[in-house]
Amino acid sequence: GLSGQRTWTPAWRDAKPKKRYQAVIIGGGGHGLATAYYLASKHGLRDIAVIERGWIGGGNTGRNTTVIRSNYFFPESARFYDFSLSLYENLSRELNYNIMFSQRGMWSFAHDRHGVEMLRRSVNAMQINGADAEYHEADEVLRRIPGLNPSPRFPILAGLNQPRGGTARHDAVAWGYARAADALGVDIIQNCEVTGFDIREGRIAGVQTTLGDIAADRVGIAVAGHSSVMARRAGFRLPITSYALQAFVSEPMKPVLDTVVLAPSTGTYLSQSDKGEIVVGSALDLFPSYAQRGSLPVLESTAAGLIDLFPQFSRVRLLRQWAGIVDVVHDSTPILGESPVKGLYLNCGWGTGGFKAIPAGGFCFAHHMATGEAHTLAAAFSLDRFRTGALIDEASASGIAH
Ligand code: FAD
Repeated sequence: GLSGQRTWTPAWRDAKPKKRYQAVIIGGGGHGLATAYYLASKHGLRDIAVIERGWIGGGNTGRNTTVIRSNYFFPESARFYDFSLSLYENLSRELNYNIMFSQRGMWSFAHDRHGVEMLRRSVNAMQINGADAEYHEADEVLRRIPGLNPSPRFPILAGLNQPRGGTARHDAVAWGYARAADALGVDIIQNCEVTGFDIREGRIAGVQTTLGDIAADRVGIAVAGHSSVMARRAGFRLPITSYALQAFVSEPMKPVLDTVVLAPSTGTYLSQSDKGEIVVGSALDLFPSYAQRGSLPVLESTAAGLIDLFPQFSRVRLLRQWAGIVDVVHDSTPILGESPVKGLYLNCGWGTGGFKAIPAGGFCFAHHMATGEAHTLAAAFSLDRFRTGALIDEASASGIAH
């Protein structure tokens, strides 16, 4: 800092595109960068490009509320998300980059007796699936979360805590994977949009970009809310609807909240960042949109939900608000694997909850792109499930705001 940053070296090269790569990944978010890193580190590929139309981490990876958890219901999801959580637990060491992973626990509440039954069911499912989960009565919830309103509009009857859940610094996850991938020779190409595909006899042969054509016989799409746009360019459709999901932060305060809290009644959830801001998110803006901004009614109801849970925050000022475009699949489960075009792979459908999935998403996607076979942890997430009917309806775990 005192040197005016003059002695700092860039953490990754500003790569210019080559004419051909062994593998091209479209989208420099967490999933794209993690995929490139694991392709290089686990599968020995060296000739890889990540193509990003803006700047890396400028999509949802840099816009999310950073909640990491594995409180899913079905074994397929629980196994996958718990694997992701376990990769997060060692990620700072693996990447030699501090991602500020803070396992401060994540609470979710029940507000009526049906909610209590569902909560008990979730705790059972999580424990059977090997994830950590605790069930607590209301008095224990209030004891553990200081400042929580004891009589909110929707009463808190019980709580589910996942102690290993928490938050991480979102930018650091993108930057950590980028630096590690670059060190293994991956070309990270920013300000380059993929505008089309070169497809010959049903097989991918390359991509068209604003910086020229690039040949590759293995291409991965990891563009979140723009997955259906890319699919259309490749000539097929995806069961994805894109919505804006918004969040906001307050002005910074001294530490007041040492865990993550979610109230399903209002959809409001919050945590406190290391800078001291209260980070607040909520449900989707429920109309399809590619406009990267949230609407006022959702912001208003989220703020109302926040003040209901923590009335003392009513005097705190809002610092900024933003939104990202998320890719929602109708069974709230991601799509990971092959597309109708041979050699063109899909990593999408993370909806409101793909930040927590970045390590496992990248790991399994790299496995599929390198070997041509689905990783066992992700085999159930194929696009084919919309033909076979083997859907994994995780709406109760991920239908809310992350
Ligand atoms: P992105 O990070 O969006 O990366 C995709 C990239 O593709 C973008 O950088 C984009 O510029 C690029 N791209 C698009 N089209 C092209 C093209 N034609 N050519 C080249 N590049 C292209 N998840 C959680 O787990 N926990 C949370 O608490 C949470 N909160 C959220 C809160 C909000 C407000 C939002 C918006 C999302 C939240 N999510 C959360 C979801 C999470 O952020 C995403 O699921 C995740 O970041 C997706 O990562 P990604 O790498 O697939 O996508």
